[in-house]
Amino acid sequence: MNDIETKVKDFEPVNIIGGGIAGLATALALKTLGIDYNIFEKSSEIKYENVGLGISANIFPILEKWKILEETRKLGTEIQDFYFVDKDLNYLNSFKIKSPALSVNRRLFYQLLNERLDKEKMHLNCIKSINDFSENEIVISADGINSVTRQKYYPNLKIRNSNQILWRGISEIKLSEKFQNAYHDFIGGNLRFAIIHTGGDYYSWYVIKQKINNEKVTLDKNTLKTFFKNYHPIVNSVIDKTKNVYFSELLDINPNDRKNLSWFKNKKLMIGDAIHPTTPNMANGACLAMEDAFLLANLLSKSSLTLEETFEVFQKQRTKKVDRIVVQSWWFGKLFHSKSKVFDYFIKAGIAITPNFLFDKIYSNVLDKTNVDDSYE
Ligand SMILES: Cc1cc2nc3c(=O)[nH]c(=O)nc-3n(C[C@H](O)[C@H](O)[C@H](O)COP(=O)(O)OP(=O)(O)OC[C@H]3O[C@@H](n4cnc5c(N)ncnc54)[C@H](O)[C@@H]3O)c2cc1C
Repeated sequence: MNDIETKVKDFEPVNIIGGGIAGLATALALKTLGIDYNIFEKSSEIKYENVGLGISANIFPILEKWKILEETRKLGTEIQDFYFVDKDLNYLNSFKIKSPALSVNRRLFYQLLNERLDKEKMHLNCIKSINDFSENEIVISADGINSVTRQKYYPNLKIRNSNQILWRGISEIKLSEKFQNAYHDFIGGNLRFAIIHTGGDYYSWYVIKQKINNEKVTLDKNTLKTFFKNYHPIVNSVIDKTKNVYFSELLDINPNDRKNLSWFKNKKLMIGDAIHPTTPNMANGACLAMEDAFLLANLLSKSSLTLEETFEVFQKQRTKKVDRIVVQSWWFGKLFHSKSKVFDYFIKAGIAITPNFLFDKIYSNVLDKTNVDDSYE
C-alpha cells in the first residue's frame, strides 16, 4: 500500500452534510480521486428550482476533470456578450467576454451531478449535525447559509442582509438574435432586470430591487409586471412566459466578521455557503463552492499533509479569492440600487463610458485560478 492509500484509509469515508452544489461537487471530486464518501441531505430528493446558473470559465477545467464538461455544455449555452441597457432597451455599453461563461439550467445541472454519484452513498431525508459523528470521523459541512455547524461554532457570527430582494425564473420565448449568447442587464431607477440566454428559446431572468419596509412579497407575475410598466415591453413579455417564479433575499456574511475565525475544528470543516456565502451579483457562489470541492479533494489525496495541515492550507488558499468576490458582489449590489436619482444618473453615465479593459479587470477576479492552481495539474 503506498502513502496516498495509507492516508486515505485513515479518514474514509468522508462524511458530507448537505446535498447542494458544495456537497454534490465534493462527493464527485472525492469519487474522481477514488476516495470514499457519504452524503447526508435533509430533503427527500436532490433537486433545485428551474432557474439559471452562471458557470464561469475558470470552472471548466474542473468539470473536465470530473468528466462532465461536455454534458454541462449541453444544459445551456455560452454567454459571449454582456450588455448594459436602460429601461427603454437603449444600449448603454457592451462588453465581449474574453472567456465566455456557461449559462445553464440549474435544475438539470443538479441532476447531472447527482447521476454521477453512487446511490448507496446518498442518504436522503437525513438531517445531520456534527454531533452525530465521532471525534475521529471527518465531516464536511456543506449545509448552506444557515449552516448548523457554523451556528454551533460561531453563534455570534451574523448573516448580513443587503435588503435587496430577487425574483427569478426561466422563460420559453422567441427573442431576436441580439439576445442569443448574451446577457442583458437593464439598470437604473433602483431596479434591475436581466435576461440571460440559456440555450434555444430559453432565457433565464431575474429582478432585483431594494426592499421597502414591510413589503409583502408575492410570486404573482402580474404584480411583478407592475414594476416594469414604463419599461420596454420585452421585460414583461419575458416575465409572462415563465411557468414558475422563485424568490430570494440577498444575504451574505461580511468577510471582516469572520476574518479571524477558523473554517474547521479538528476533523470538521465548513465549505461553500456554510462559511462564505455571497450575494449573487457576481453570479459566482456556486462556482466558488465547486472550487472549494476540487481543492479540498486534491489536498485530501496528498499524502504529505496531515489532516490539520490539509484544512489549514485549504482555508488559506481559498480565503483571498472568496473574500474578494464576496466584497465585490456586495458593492455591485449597492452601486445598482441607489435611492438617489443623481447617483443613479452618474452610475448610468459611468457604465456608458467604462472601457472594456476595466470590465475585464473586474471579471478577472472571478476567472482567477491561483487558489486552486497547482491542483489543476
Ligand atoms: C438568486 C441567486 C442566484 C445565484 N446565481 C448564481 C450563479 O449564477 N452562479 C453561481 O455560481 N452562484 C450563484 N448563486 C450562489 C449559489 O446559489 C450558492 O453560492 C450555492 O448554491 C451554495 O451552495 P451550497 O451547497 O454551499 O449551499 P446550498 O445550495 O444552500 O445547499 C445546502 C444543502 O444542505 C442541505 N442541508 C442543510 N442543512 C442540513 C442538515 N442539517 N442535514 C442535511 N442536509 C442539510 C440543504 O437542504 C441543501 O440541499 C446564486 C444565489 C442566489 C441566491
